[in-house]
Amino acid sequence: MRAFVTALLLATATPAIAADMPKNVIVMIADGSGHNTLAATRFWTGQPLTMDKGPWVRASMATYGLRLERKVPEGGDPYAQDPDAVYDPAKAWDTRPVKGMAKPGSTYPALFAGYQWHRRVAPDSANTMSAMMTGVRTFDGAIDVDGAEKPVQSIAEAAKAAGKMTGSITSVPFNHATPAAGGGAHNPDRDDYHGIAREMLSGSLDVIGGGGNPDYDQDGKPITDEHAEIRFKWMPPELWAKLKEPDSRWNLVETAGDIRDLAEGKTTSAKPLAMIAAVNPTLQAQRSYPANIARGTADPGAVPFTPGMAKLDEMAIAALKHVGTDPDGFFMMIEGGAVDWAMHANDFPRMIEEYMAFDDAVRAVVAWIESPESAASWDDTLLVVTADHDHLLYGPNLDEPFQRVTNNGAGKLPGYSWAWSSHSNHLVPFFARGKGAELLKAEADQIDEYTDSQDRKFGYGRYLTQPELGAFLLKTQEK
Ligand SMILES: [Zn+2]
Repeated sequence: MRAFVTALLLATATPAIAADMPKNVIVMIADGSGHNTLAATRFWTGQPLTMDKGPWVRASMATYGLRLERKVPEGGDPYAQDPDAVYDPAKAWDTRPVKGMAKPGSTYPALFAGYQWHRRVAPDSANTMSAMMTGVRTFDGAIDVDGAEKPVQSIAEAAKAAGKMTGSITSVPFNHATPAAGGGAHNPDRDDYHGIAREMLSGSLDVIGGGGNPDYDQDGKPITDEHAEIRFKWMPPELWAKLKEPDSRWNLVETAGDIRDLAEGKTTSAKPLAMIAAVNPTLQAQRSYPANIARGTADPGAVPFTPGMAKLDEMAIAALKHVGTDPDGFFMMIEGGAVDWAMHANDFPRMIEEYMAFDDAVRAVVAWIESPESAASWDDTLLVVTADHDHLLYGPNLDEPFQRVTNNGAGKLPGYSWAWSSHSNHLVPFFARGKGAELLKAEADQIDEYTDSQDRKFGYGRYLTQPELGAFLLKTQEK
């Protein structure tokens, strides 16, 4: 019966597009995770990642933005590309030594000219995710708007227009930059959390999810200080109150048990699903350290995880089971958002914890696609696993430019050093599997390679750009 219906649909749609394009699209983003983040996780666990096994397309992706300034320079062209920010292997792998500190007063040594370039031109999560979701490169801080702040259509909206269900979930607040751009919000200012929350909650998404719950703290305990700054940072009190009303458009789900019941199929939701886990801001990455342990000094998992907390893999499956009920197909964005938070804090062990949680989610999504009960299969579903941008994380030897993190064996922390507390412009790992993955592979037609004056070789090989991914994703929704 299903084959018959598919044949009928193919006969009426444009055959060229319908035949090679996926019906379902899942994009999974590990925020901030570069090649060294993945290597560190493999070394610590002693195990391959989910994307290391099976028929994945493997490449890298460039993450540069249109410009670093949020505002258009006076009299300037809002669509002009900053020529210095463009990905250029000779700048990205520049090994010329630089004396002094990264900036006046900085605690990070400058070390190499390439490091200085990365520190200067790195993009953020807003413009990188917007480029992936809309095909349009834009400025730092922009959510699905172009260089002149005009809203541009995202894949979430295109999928909705094609009659599909859509969702966007994360391990950080549900309206943080990446899930906001993934969920088709439009805002020139990623920090306008209240505006973005209003737009997402009044929009047409079928699933939202993440942390940022106003009633709980970072350890999942009820907030006792009613005026705590974090409490209504992400959404205003009236919006939270409205979300809780029985006649809300949304089915608000907060407890780990209720999210797990959805993931296990014990319950379903008639209404759109708002999984706002009982924690604020992130699921696990911001949980308190005991007084006798300094941040970043305990091995992954050594500080016990907050018990009874929702997990990203369970949220992902709960979300997919909900959007997977649509016979027309779905678009789903799933973000491991807190990898980036741990990296900003230079907390290497928690970075590994968060990437492990993300990899658990990828493994669960693959198993769901492959399970006969799910609405999806590799024949009709595209799964993309990548990052929005990288950080400046390298190996332990500061004299060796761009040294990779080093393997000390499973269960031992890899050798590492942080060269900055924020982003870089490095290429990020890119994986795709399922329907349309081979077409995406053809987009990765640029080569990252560089040989310095001492004949040392650098580079991540074949890569595509974020607008190329975004344009392809939008094309999957054309009829
Ligand atoms: Zn960041």
